Amino acid sequence: MGSWEENIRRVVPYVPGEQPSDTNIIKLNTNENPYGPSPRVKAISMDMDFLKKYPDPRAGLLVDKLAAYHGLEPSQVFVGVGSDDVIAMSFMTFFNSGKPVLFPDITYSFYDVWADMLRIPYEKKPLNDDFRIVKEDYMNNDNGGIIFPNPNAPTGILVGVDFIEDIVRANTDSVVIIDEAYIDFGGESALPLINKYENLLITRTFSKSRSMAGLRIGYAMGSAKLIKYLNDVKYSFNSYTMNTPSIILGSEVIDDEEYFRNCLAKIIDTRDWFTEKLTELGFMVLPSKSNFVFAAPKSISAEELFMKARDNGIFFRYFKSPRIDRFLRITIGTREEMEKVVNFLVSVL
Ligand SMILES: *Cc1c(COP(=O)(O)O)cnc(C)c1O
Repeated sequence: MGSWEENIRRVVPYVPGEQPSDTNIIKLNTNENPYGPSPRVKAISMDMDFLKKYPDPRAGLLVDKLAAYHGLEPSQVFVGVGSDDVIAMSFMTFFNSGKPVLFPDITYSFYDVWADMLRIPYEKKPLNDDFRIVKEDYMNNDNGGIIFPNPNAPTGILVGVDFIEDIVRANTDSVVIIDEAYIDFGGESALPLINKYENLLITRTFSKSRSMAGLRIGYAMGSAKLIKYLNDVKYSFNSYTMNTPSIILGSEVIDDEEYFRNCLAKIIDTRDWFTEKLTELGFMVLPSKSNFVFAAPKSISAEELFMKARDNGIFFRYFKSPRIDRFLRITIGTREEMEKVVNFLVSVL
């Protein structure tokens, strides 16, 4: 027996939320959007014969659509297999200096997994007692890069564009990535800043606001220089990350702005209603600009409530981690689903 096992890349993997197959449950644990993709998707018929060919490595149809939609040049847009793929590729491309990459202690729990996997040093900066990002922690221009979601996850708390501009302007020697997975649910995007700062990358996903988590589409926007570097790494890893059905269906939904805006309005409306109900029930609810709320119950532990809900076919997300183990992250479903959740909470509390 050799010692091959000493020489493998060991990683502690990210643990995704459960994806139960039972369709009777109320699934509020992974921030999907309950309304489904634009009906235009269902109207498309595809001649499956095209599957014999490799997809367009540039995913041109989708890249060009997204560029036009956001008022950018196609050279400023990069697409990938979910924003997880886009962000992992960005870690590999941009976080390469030997200095620590900075992100909050409470944030998307994939960041430290990618950093560990790619052997990138990092430093977690604690959120303050109100669970807000402390800007001063990110102003030293002496780091290997910066990343955080806006709004942050799992807190749902948004920062303003000025806050982001200050950080980007102060860190001219590194790349700043703003993960805008939830920006469509009421936040103001930092996108206009990419024409002003070469070192800013914005990432987005179709999984949440566009209700297409099953297709796996994410994208990044930044200076043509950043996007070129990102593409160089992508083509050195796997030229054909995007499959043809994703390219076709993804570009189709971009044209249905009305459906998109309608779904967002419903979710925002339900979120604000649900937040009120939770507050009435004694929960401490952080101010959310996303499609979930982060809420701490008063008279029962979060873990116990999580288990009870699960037994009743309602799935929340619970993180047994320091500082946040008294909270539940609850995705905003349809109004009917959230009414059932309120009834359930009333019955247990
Ligand atoms: C959901 C999520 C992502 C990843 O989304 P994809 O489904 O991979 O596009 C990225 N960042 C944050 C903060 C998320 O919550």
